[in-house]
Amino acid sequence: MRRIAIVGAGIGGLTAAIALTRGDVECVVVEQRPALGVDEGTGIQISPNAGAELLDLGVSLDSAVPAGHRELRRWQDDRVLGHTDLSRYAVPYLTMPRGALIGSLRKAAGRTRVILGRRCVAVRDDGTSVVLGFDDGTAGRFDAVVGADGLRSVVRGLTGSHTPRHSGLVAGRAVLPRRAASRFVETDRVVVWLGPGRHCVTYPISRDHVNLVVVGPSFVFDGWHPSVRGLIALAGPMRPRPLYDLPPLPFWQHGRVVLIGDAAHPILPFIAQGAAQAVEDAVTLAGCRDLADLQALREERIRKVYAMSRAGLRVHHLPDGAEQRIRDRALAAARPDAHDWLYGHRVAASLRRSSDTSSTRDERPSF
Ligand SMILES: Cc1cc2nc3c(=O)[nH]c(=O)nc-3n(C[C@H](O)[C@H](O)[C@H](O)COP(=O)(O)OP(=O)(O)OC[C@H]3O[C@@H](n4cnc5c(N)ncnc54)[C@H](O)[C@@H]3O)c2cc1C
Repeated sequence: MRRIAIVGAGIGGLTAAIALTRGDVECVVVEQRPALGVDEGTGIQISPNAGAELLDLGVSLDSAVPAGHRELRRWQDDRVLGHTDLSRYAVPYLTMPRGALIGSLRKAAGRTRVILGRRCVAVRDDGTSVVLGFDDGTAGRFDAVVGADGLRSVVRGLTGSHTPRHSGLVAGRAVLPRRAASRFVETDRVVVWLGPGRHCVTYPISRDHVNLVVVGPSFVFDGWHPSVRGLIALAGPMRPRPLYDLPPLPFWQHGRVVLIGDAAHPILPFIAQGAAQAVEDAVTLAGCRDLADLQALREERIRKVYAMSRAGLRVHHLPDGAEQRIRDRALAAARPDAHDWLYGHRVAASLRRSSDTSSTRDERPSF
C-alpha cells in the first residue's frame, strides 16, 4: 500500500485524506497547529459545488444551515441591487461555523492518522520517494506528498519561488447573536453590502448565530447605512487580517509532490470560493491517475474563479458614479442561471469528460 503525506489539516487537506483513503492509499496528515479547529470560530459558506462533494464523501453537514438566497445591497441606503436564488441546486447552499466543518471532516477521516503540532520545514524529492523534514528534528519518507498547507505553503517552495500578493485590504470577522443582529438585517440569507472601497457580509451559521465579515483598507464605515454600522458596533473590535492572493501557479506538481487549495491558488474571498475550490481539488486528485493530471483537470476552472474573485476587488468596491450605475444595472438584470457554471459543477462529471478524451484514466492511481 502506498503512503501519502498530506501537509496541512485544513479543509483541503482533510478532504484529500478522506477522498484518497477510499482507494488503496494510506494517508498521514501533518498539521502545525497543536489542535484542530483553533482560530476557526467564525463561519464559512459552503456552496453547492463543495457541499455535494462533501456529502458524497460521507461528511456530515447536519449542523449547517441553508441560505435560500443572496442579496447584494447598496452601502448608503440598504437598497437591494441584485438577488441570487441559491435554492436552485441539488444540494442547498450551506453556512456553518468553520470549527464545526473541520470537526465533521476529521470525523469522516476516521482512522486516518493526523499528527498535530508538527510543522513541515523541508521537502526533498529524491526520485524514488519524498522526504519531509519537521521542526522537531524528525523526518518522514513517503511515496507522494500533497501540499495542502495554505497561503504560506512551505511545500510550494519545491515548485519555485512564489510570494502572495497583498490586496491592500484587510478582513475582519465576528460571530454575532442572531437575535441582536436581526435588529439590523434579515438573518436567513446571505447579505452583501457593496460600497466605495469596502464591503460587508452577513449570513447565518446556526440557529443562534450569524457571521459578519467586513473588508476594506480599514474597518471605518462612516456614512454607511445604520444597519451596517449597527452590526459592526455589535461585533466590537475585530482583528484585521490582511488579504492576499496569487495568480494560479505555473506548476502545481513537481515529481511526487502536488499542491491543492490555497497552496496552489490562494484567491481573494470576494466570491467565497477558496475552500470550495480546495474541496474540488482534493476530490479530483483522488480521481487522477498521475499527480500531473490534477493541474490539467483543474486549471481552466481555477483561472476562471481566480479572475472572478480578482474582479471583485474593483467591481465590489466601485465609488459612486457612472461605472457603479452600470454595475448596479447589470446586477439587477442578472440571469437566474448566471452561477450555474460555478455552483452546479460536479467533479465526477469533469473526470468522466476527461476520461472520454484519455486512454489512461480508467486505470488506478499510480502515485
Ligand atoms: C475573510 C475570509 C472569508 C472566507 N470565506 C470563505 C467562504 O465563505 N467559503 C469558501 O469557500 N472560502 C472562504 N474563504 C477562503 C478559505 O478560507 C480558504 O480558501 C481555505 O481555508 C483554503 O483551504 P486550504 O485547506 O487550502 O488551506 P488552509 O485553510 O489555510 O489550511 C492550511 C493548513 O495547513 C497548516 N499548515 C500550514 N503550513 C504548515 C506546515 N509548514 N506544516 C504543517 N502544517 C501547515 C495550517 O495550520 C492549516 O491548518 C475565506 C477566506 C477569508 C480570508
